[in-house]
Amino acid sequence: MLLQVDRLKKKYAKSTSPALKDISFSVAEGEFIAILGLSGAGKSTLIRCINRLITPTQGTIRWLGKDITIASGKDLTMYRRSIGMIFQTFNLVGRLSVLTNVLVGRLGYMPVWRAFLFRYKTSDIKAAEHALERVGLFHVRDKRADQLSGGQQQRVAIARALVQQPILMLGDEPVASLDPMTSKSIMDILQMINRKDKITMMVNLHDVELAKQYATRVLGISRGKIVFDGPPEKLTYEE
Ligand code: ADP
Ligand code: ADP
Repeated sequence: MLLQVDRLKKKYAKSTSPALKDISFSVAEGEFIAILGLSGAGKSTLIRCINRLITPTQGTIRWLGKDITIASGKDLTMYRRSIGMIFQTFNLVGRLSVLTNVLVGRLGYMPVWRAFLFRYKTSDIKAAEHALERVGLFHVRDKRADQLSGGQQQRVAIARALVQQPILMLGDEPVASLDPMTSKSIMDILQMINRKDKITMMVNLHDVELAKQYATRVLGISRGKIVFDGPPEKLTYEE
């Protein structure tokens, strides 16, 4: 198992009821998991716990058998390096070129002024260019990131995650701000990466049809609990 989540609970400091209650599941290599649920169900909290952007209140998260629930410092950095993350709002640095945004994924985040002046190694540039080819954006590598469309920006974010050579890719509503056609093109890229690079996928979606089309497994979440865990064809609309 890549990931084992056991009896996870998350309660935010000022809220009365927990955002996640008793969540348990395991993730095997190669899966394409869609996390489905209404707004406020806890999907984003779950993704943020797994990437340890936040720390769970109770329960454990194991990565390749190692308990990383409260890991910090070097252990946390090592763990995060094996996980690529994409967001609803893409999180690119608009003033930097497309290529530099991808390079930042390879070298770790740095202040913008430093990213501008940094002398990148040829091997890193080659890797970033290759990742941009994979998502079909090599031709815009020198443009400023904020000149691209939303769909293109998400593809840059995917390339930035790819150059990290992650084992698992997490997406927090990666297509929620894109139109249906563009959403599909992004899901197609994630599927290609899942199949060709064998990178395990775990993405929050609120579109049942997309989950059915792309996921190999659906985790349905409602009010902080898992209410469905199975193949998308078994999904019913009540959930
Ligand atoms: P989502 O798109 O997952 O529904 P929201 O738009 O509700 O997220 O939240 C946007 C930001 O506000 C997130 O960073 C989230 O952590 C934070 N947030 C959401 N709900 C609350 C809350 N009740 N109290 C404080 N912060 C919140
Ligand atoms: P989803 O991603 O499914 O929309 P979230 O994980 O964003 O759900 O939110 C789950 C619950 O936790 C909601 O009730 C939300 O308001 C609350 N919440 C999210 N982020 C915060 C936060 N930073 N502080 C307090 N409450 C939060």
